Amino acid sequence: AEWAAAVAAVRRLPADARVLLICHVNPDGDALGSMLGFGLGLRRLGVRQLQATFPGPPEVPEPFRWLPGLDLLVPQDAAYPDPDLVICFDAASESRLGDLVGRLGSAGASLVLDHHASNTRFGDINLVDPHAAATSVVAEGLLDRLGVPLDADIAACLYVALSTDTGSFRFEATTPAVHEMAARLLATGIRPGDISRRIFDTRPFGAVRLFGEAIGRARLEPGAAGGRGLVWTYATLDDLARHDQPPYVLEALIDSVRCTAEADVSCVVKQTPAGDWAVSLRSKGAVDVSRVAVALGGGGHRFAAGFTGRGSVDEVVDSIRAELDGALLAV
Ligand code: 5GP
Ligand code: MN
Ligand code: MN
Repeated sequence: AEWAAAVAAVRRLPADARVLLICHVNPDGDALGSMLGFGLGLRRLGVRQLQATFPGPPEVPEPFRWLPGLDLLVPQDAAYPDPDLVICFDAASESRLGDLVGRLGSAGASLVLDHHASNTRFGDINLVDPHAAATSVVAEGLLDRLGVPLDADIAACLYVALSTDTGSFRFEATTPAVHEMAARLLATGIRPGDISRRIFDTRPFGAVRLFGEAIGRARLEPGAAGGRGLVWTYATLDDLARHDQPPYVLEALIDSVRCTAEADVSCVVKQTPAGDWAVSLRSKGAVDVSRVAVALGGGGHRFAAGFTGRGSVDEVVDSIRAELDGALLAV
């Protein structure tokens, strides 16, 4: 029923309708890729007044600055104040939308595309599939039902989204359906080697050195999480400034920390321009880190979650330690 409602909401748009696409703050590959890929599909359907935007700092992270559809992006202040339809990508709750949350209320209708189990269904129509590996899976499903064929530009966006949220097809979410979708995307002629190198394997030398510092002060606590182990580190605005790096380079730091063999749970505490801490949590399976994140005001998935912390780094890590035992899974 939700699929039919979503198809109808797009199909019945008048020719002069204004459509606004939004996604979560500090957009990742899934947020940007599903939003821009779907936007290019709407353009193919003939939607002419089409904008995309996201809350928070307006810079698109460098690894995504080649994505097709970037021309859809406008600064959030310039986005339609009262669009006919707003479509929201990869956001589990309104709290992930910053100042853009008002656009939901002022829009003629709102459509939410997401894959977080914790999604609060804040749209008029909610396409939320917790079994989908990425929001782009939901986006592709809707494009298909709208009769939009995949082209290489749409496919590049959706491939970025799919490969980001599956950790390059390494995570448990990498189902046969994921590989079937990847096959459809690759059949358009996109180049997976180029795309992967750009989004996963390219970083400025300053960021390489900054990662070295942050990894160098990582702490291992083998007794934490019921003996499953915790590894954590942090990075400050001063670290970023000394290496002349923007905040988003820290998004990849967790991947260099979570490989620690002696820890099931990993954590990176990143100071934000607002002065608080963006916390990333990962688990290898013994702990449901989304429970930790939700208890501390955030959210996410079982094995990848996050929240906003306040106070000192030690206070933030203390608050995590206190929630870990309660989030142990029976494994
Ligand atoms: P990351 O650590 O890559 O920033 O985020 C991992 C997952 O945790 C994301 O899929 C996102 O859904 C969730 N997440 C991260 N930060 C927050 C937050 O501050 N609030 C909520 N609700 N979810 C978050
Ligand atoms: Mn995301
Ligand atoms: Mn996602």
